[in-house]
Amino acid sequence: MSERISVFFEQALNIKPISQLECIQCKHKLERPYKEKEYVNKAVDDKCPKCQSPMYVKAIYVYPQPKQF
Ligand SMILES: [Zn+2]
Repeated sequence: MSERISVFFEQALNIKPISQLECIQCKHKLERPYKEKEYVNKAVDDKCPKCQSPMYVKAIYVYPQPKQF
């Protein structure tokens, strides 16, 4: 029983924030791991993979990493 509980907590804590970036030019969106001190609407160093334009943070959110079986 206690093993099951610790597994539950490992899963619950295994969440990583995701930053969704959007290209200012072509509106292409991508997700990548959140970096410290990022906030919504912040311009980031990442370049759009499609048109090489600057990108900004469109949204930040968290969801659990999918469990691999
Ligand atoms: Zn673009």
